[in-house]
Amino acid sequence: MSQPTIVPVALPNEIDGVPLSWEPWDLAPIMSHIPYDCEHCAFDGEPATALATSTEQRGRWTAVRCRRCQATTVTTFQPEAGRLGRYVRVWSAPPQPWTAEVSA
Ligand SMILES: [Zn+2]
Repeated sequence: MSQPTIVPVALPNEIDGVPLSWEPWDLAPIMSHIPYDCEHCAFDGEPATALATSTEQRGRWTAVRCRRCQATTVTTFQPEAGRLGRYVRVWSAPPQPWTAEVSA
């Protein structure tokens, strides 16, 4: 029996020179700004998510990892990106080989 698991590929300790402190991985709550279908493997289950904060810059960074192919993206809210601000992808990790079918 094989179930999708969270592989602990390291998250970046800093992005754009901002040191980050990551909280443990969790399953994603439903959040409208996070795409739910994996763009790489079309896995439509809940992704794993982790949040980071920094002691040097206000803000919140969100990592989202597909539990099948482990593709990971980190987005952050950038107030300066537009009048209302927007979420910007600032880091990503490519998908890993995965097994689409598990035979007993
Ligand atoms: Zn995936």
